[in-house]
Amino acid sequence: MDFSKRPNGMPDEQTFQFTDIELDKPENGEVLLKTLYISVDPYMRGRMSNKKSYAAPFEVGKPLEGGVVAQVLASNTAELQKGDIVRGTLPFQTHLVVSAENVSKVETNGLSPSAALSVLGMPALTAYFGMMHIGKPQKGETVVVSGAAGAVGQIAGQLAKQVGAYVVGIVGSEEKAAYITEKLGYDAAIEYKKGDVAKQLEEACPNGIDVYYENVGGDIGDAIWPLLNTFARVPVCGAISSYNLKEGEKDIGLRVQQFLIKSRATMQGFLVGDFAEHYKDAYAFLAKGVTDGKIVFEETIHDGFHAIPEAFTGLFTGQNIGKQLVKVADA
Ligand code: NDP
Repeated sequence: MDFSKRPNGMPDEQTFQFTDIELDKPENGEVLLKTLYISVDPYMRGRMSNKKSYAAPFEVGKPLEGGVVAQVLASNTAELQKGDIVRGTLPFQTHLVVSAENVSKVETNGLSPSAALSVLGMPALTAYFGMMHIGKPQKGETVVVSGAAGAVGQIAGQLAKQVGAYVVGIVGSEEKAAYITEKLGYDAAIEYKKGDVAKQLEEACPNGIDVYYENVGGDIGDAIWPLLNTFARVPVCGAISSYNLKEGEKDIGLRVQQFLIKSRATMQGFLVGDFAEHYKDAYAFLAKGVTDGKIVFEETIHDGFHAIPEAFTGLFTGQNIGKQLVKVADA
């Protein structure tokens, strides 16, 4: 699927174009893959803009790419065998021929291969490093997570609960509030679309906020900053509310500086890739957590390659619970 036009604001049908392509046979060192699952992620919106960022912009007329789990149909390398399940950042195609160096074999630990893009994949790693390496919650502290029912948020909250923190999630619907409190063990949920987030937060966080795991940006933060406790930590993971601003539209809110001074809080932006040297340990931790039943998760799966646009744009209107994926084929 090609990226056909840079969106101004929310991506729409003009952003995407489905095309047919011919595939060559895999040459030396290459594999032929059948795509099983595609990950649609909020950061892809940043790559649709041609503004300078940490990831290169998508090229108009070239395939979209992102997290893909695929199965090897034919291999021209000793490293991978027919039937192996692999993961990589790959073009969004139903089938593809790639160098074996661009993919890595994944162990699914008895889970669906989709897990390699969710609870045993990038979003869970992001939650792990943001919460455990930057947020560093302690027993008895108050932790607030925005985007709490999403791919990152569903894991971030559970990790904070595991260390004995009191955890509050901010979500966009009643269904999500029930999910995080009943399934994930969050202590309280705030529905930001019901309004007066500041009042809801004050009530839910009588002891102030020690860690704010920031996934959404925008004016939700304005309700957070006045409640930050001394030496609070704010891992800044994402700001999805700003990703679809139109050209020239400004993202303004209450100024944070005065609150950082008062609380001596630390706000730290990060990318999951900053922690690459710790991936192995984090994967092992997450896999054990899933096996032991200490980490639970949801995936919202759209069926069929043609569902990519709908699945992607749905991230910005809150259609997903847990990790949003597209299923392309069975293994
Ligand atoms: P999610 O699965 O959380 O999906 C996005 C969710 O964001 C939606 O379901 C919606 O939930 C919420 N949302 C959408 N628009 C708004 C808005 N205007 N205000 C508040 N909430 C909104 O996505 P991910 O878990 O994959 O990503 C979460 C965040 O983490 C994103 O900002 C992403 O960019 C960032 N990220 C950062 C990484 C890093 O390395 N720093 C790596 C991966 C992700 P609701 O119904 O609750 O509104």
